[in-house]
Amino acid sequence: MTDGKKDYYGLLGVPRNASAEDIKKAFRKLALKYHPDKNPDNKQEAEKKFKEIAEAYEVLSDPDKRASYDRFGHEGLSGYTSRGFTSYEDIFDAFSDLFEGDSLFSSFFGGPRRRKPRGSHLRVEITVSFRESASGTKKTITLKRNEICDECRGSGAKKGTALTTCSTCKGKGEVLQGHSFFTIRTTCPQCQGQGKIIKESCQSCYGTGRVRKEREIEIKIPAGIEDGTRLRVSGEGEPSADGSARGDLYCDVFVAPDTVFERYHNDVIIEMPISFSQATLGAEITVPTLNDSVKMTIPPGTTNGQVFRLKNLGFPDIHTRRQQGSQLVRVVVEVPKDLTKEQKELLNKFASSENHSNINTARKVKFWEEPK
Ligand SMILES: [Zn+2]
Ligand SMILES: [Zn+2]
Repeated sequence: MTDGKKDYYGLLGVPRNASAEDIKKAFRKLALKYHPDKNPDNKQEAEKKFKEIAEAYEVLSDPDKRASYDRFGHEGLSGYTSRGFTSYEDIFDAFSDLFEGDSLFSSFFGGPRRRKPRGSHLRVEITVSFRESASGTKKTITLKRNEICDECRGSGAKKGTALTTCSTCKGKGEVLQGHSFFTIRTTCPQCQGQGKIIKESCQSCYGTGRVRKEREIEIKIPAGIEDGTRLRVSGEGEPSADGSARGDLYCDVFVAPDTVFERYHNDVIIEMPISFSQATLGAEITVPTLNDSVKMTIPPGTTNGQVFRLKNLGFPDIHTRRQQGSQLVRVVVEVPKDLTKEQKELLNKFASSENHSNINTARKVKFWEEPK
């Protein structure tokens, strides 16, 4: 275990071979135990514990993360993004499906759970080059998003004017609707739940409390990222109605195809043409790699389509950052076409020394030879 972090299985009190269902059960039980309402006397300690078990559950409930954690411990998770829980709300928000409709937890929220609304999530697309996807990189993107208006600090009211209490709901933001014995509590239609009404609108945001602003955000692209991976940049979405909780920014990363390289899992594949004599006699050739180039030995008698494995020259594993893929070099033997007179004579001489009765050596087609 690295940097003094506790064992996730230990935190949840489950064995290492616990089923997904057992893990879920254990988390729910502990979530109840460390709930703030249950620990009025030691809220801070309970909250700390609650965040720890939420972190443990976040990892162990995700099969990918769990597998990586099982193999490499906390270090195995360095390539993953975590939600980074900062409050109870965060945790309930993240695992809402786990708590929703559960009488055990609904009591804490007064009937149906009322979560603090978060701002909208945003989504952007980034394309990186093939080599950048192997090395990792940083990209700065520019996006326009709603920000809280500086002029009115998000209230929407003109500077110097006050907000007045909504007369419909008397500032509560909610109204009771219905007749006789059956009533429902709903958001106030007059003030949209704000409890306050703007008398005179702010001139920079026209009373919305929001203005569009251009933002530059740096996004870290981890080494070994695959085409189509979605990264989550926490808290870089739009602000919520009251400006307290921003949504997230989702970044879909695409990898541009390369003219030479192809990816297969964490291996990188290239095709190298070699001459007929190089294949026959053996040679040392230079092959391009993701970083630079390397010298590679072609043994005498190499056949067309033979694959050579160059270890550790492929993609780093995005999750573990430890294992690195290989570069697979598939050689293609080129048959010479425009021979000079001299070359022809030499080849004829060679041909006459060969035994050409190869009819008996016919064999089944082998398209792909496993690399060594
Ligand atoms: Zn304004
Ligand atoms: Zn109202």
